[in-house]
Order: sequence, then C-alpha cells, then structure tokens
Amino acid sequence: MSNITGILLCAGDSRRMGFHKLLYRLPNGKTPMDMSLEALVKGGVNRLVIVVNEATRTHAHSLISRAGVPVTVCEGGETRQESVYNGLLCCKPGIAVIHDAARCLARPALVHACIDSVRLHGSGVAFIPVRDTVLHVKQDNGGGVTALAREELLHTQTPQAFEYSRILDAYEKARADDRAATDDSTLYAAAGHAVRFVPGAVDNRKLTTPEDIVWLEERLCAAAAGLGAAAGLRVGLGEDVHLLVQDRPLILGGVEIPFEKGLIGHSDADVLIHALMDALLGAAGLGDIGVQFPDTDPQYKGISSLTLLVRVADRLAAAGYGVRNVDVTVVAERPKLAPHFPQMRELIAAALRLTTDRIGLKATTTEGSGPEGRGECIRANAVALLYAL
Ligand code: MG
Repeated sequence: MSNITGILLCAGDSRRMGFHKLLYRLPNGKTPMDMSLEALVKGGVNRLVIVVNEATRTHAHSLISRAGVPVTVCEGGETRQESVYNGLLCCKPGIAVIHDAARCLARPALVHACIDSVRLHGSGVAFIPVRDTVLHVKQDNGGGVTALAREELLHTQTPQAFEYSRILDAYEKARADDRAATDDSTLYAAAGHAVRFVPGAVDNRKLTTPEDIVWLEERLCAAAAGLGAAAGLRVGLGEDVHLLVQDRPLILGGVEIPFEKGLIGHSDADVLIHALMDALLGAAGLGDIGVQFPDTDPQYKGISSLTLLVRVADRLAAAGYGVRNVDVTVVAERPKLAPHFPQMRELIAAALRLTTDRIGLKATTTEGSGPEGRGECIRANAVALLYAL
C-alpha cells in the first residue's frame, strides 16, 4: 500500500480565540485536535505528521499511542506555509493530505474523496461555492464597489491532498521565489499544476472565534440528542444543606464570600457545588458525591469542591455523558449572592468545560422562616441535563 500521510497542522497561535482552540475540551470529551486526527485516520491516511508548537506539542505526543497509525511529531514555523513545509519534509513519497486541525468537523468521507482525487488527477482540494455576492471595495476611489463574478470564486478548505513530489516541489519553488500563500492549492497552481477541486461541506468550518466553539458545541449536542431515546437526554436532581458557623470561610460556587459565618463540612462545604455535583451524578446514574468521594477518605478533607467538580466532569465523560445545562438555586437569608454570580459562573463553566450560558445560578430567601431564614444554614437545589456522547 502506498504511503498516504496526513499532515495535521497544529502550530497556529490561536490569537483570535483568547484560549487555545485546538486544546479546548468539547462536550464529547475530545479536543478539536483529536477529532481532526480521527477524521484523517478514518478517511484513509496510513501515517501522520503532526505539526506542533510549544502549546500543542505535549498533547500531540499523547496522541501517538492512540492514533492507530505511525505518527511523527514535527515543529511548525512562523507561518502556516513554513509549518506545512516542515511537515512535508517528514513525509514519505506517496500522497500528502494537508489538514488544518481547526477544521475538526471534516468528515472521513471528504478525506477519502480528496485522496481518491489525487489517484485520478494528482490533487484533491476541498472547496465550497461562494453563496453570497462578494464586493471589491475600492478604498482609494471614493468608496466605489465592484461585484466579483461569483461563478469565478470559491472558498477553499482543507483537506488538500496532493501527489507528494509535486506539492513538495511547489513549496520549494515558493521558497526560492519568496512567494507567500495561506493555502496549498495556490502554491501548487503557481508551480504549474492543475488543481482538482472536491466538494467540501459548509460545516467543515475553521474554528476561528469563540462563537465558532459555541456553534461546534451546539452541533455536537444536537447530534447526540438526535440519536434517539437510547442515546437521549437524562435529567438529575441534587440537594444539599450545610450549617453556618463562626470561624469558617463562606465558600459558594468556588468563590470566598465575605461574611461573618461560614459553612461547616468535611471539604470546603461548598453547598452550591455539592448540590450541583449530586444533580450531575444522579443524571448519569453514578450515585452521589458520598459514593464518589467518601468523606471517610482523608484525601478529600478540606478539598476544593471545584476540584471535585472537575473530577465529576471527567467521570461523566468516561461514562459517556456530556452536560447540556445546569441550574442551581441557593436558599440563604444572607449574604447577598447575586454580585458573586458572574465569577461563580465562570468557575463552574471552566470546571465543566462549558460556556457560561449553560450555567444557571439563582438565590432566594425564605422570608425569615425556617432554619435558612434564621441564618442557621444554607440550602442549595440543582438540576442538570445530560446527553449521551
Ligand atoms: Mg454537602
């Protein structure tokens, strides 16, 4: 069998995202880097070159044993073009399939189609037609505009697959001529080769902004929910009460709140997170926090409940569940909690690897009645909705 090498580009700096998009943990427990790698392997590549930078190097090495094909990890360059070139130098003759890891919804069938196109025509480059009218705006000419002929335009995507010696030659010519391009087919064409295009997909979208991550999560959730009752949604309920005492910090939702009393308990007694964890575990059929983190175990004494929440998220993913949304109500006469909700939501969202819009937080009083109203305790109730991954 000939060498079909996937060059997975993971050396971008994720500048527009604010966090590293390729390492973002998605509701299915995978990163975009994992998903792109899987698409290449399922699509028919029989070896991989992962092109990395400082940020992605460690994760790339962790993928070597899981990839199912031989993997070489190579260092990227200052630009995409340099990174691709470095990756090409690690390939063996045959077919090179260049793919941006940020296009993690590329389907294996598309990878396959690009490889088949190389066998028939020497290249196979994913594209989609331009749907909107594209205007050329002449900045220096009174703001005049010209509509470009749509039938002459297309959006290129990746994968872009080529006969190896030709694409290597194209990249070497570009280096010699000092020609820059942000896409491989441009250099391939400039070296005198005809580019063959393969229909891509609208959802083979390059993750660029934080909105793209939200969109991707929605897609993954919708896909899971659409699998039917056997793989459907699951709801869970959690409730907890802790007593308020002197000389304890008051920690709620991972935030230390200035107050004359605090909650007593084996861990940090974060009643809000405890109720939330019970809702999550209950929905997954994993019991409650007493089962998962027994208070007879000294390792949990004084532990941050947020740390336990991260472990709950890991256990849910291991059991095959993602979190759709959660909602918590805290019952406390005092102190006022609403000013702390934004920070709590950030912390809880980070622990569950969700966006903050999935985290509901509310507070209420009991109008002075009962133990909560007398300030003897704080109660929290939570619900969580899970979906099967
Ligand atoms: Mg508790």
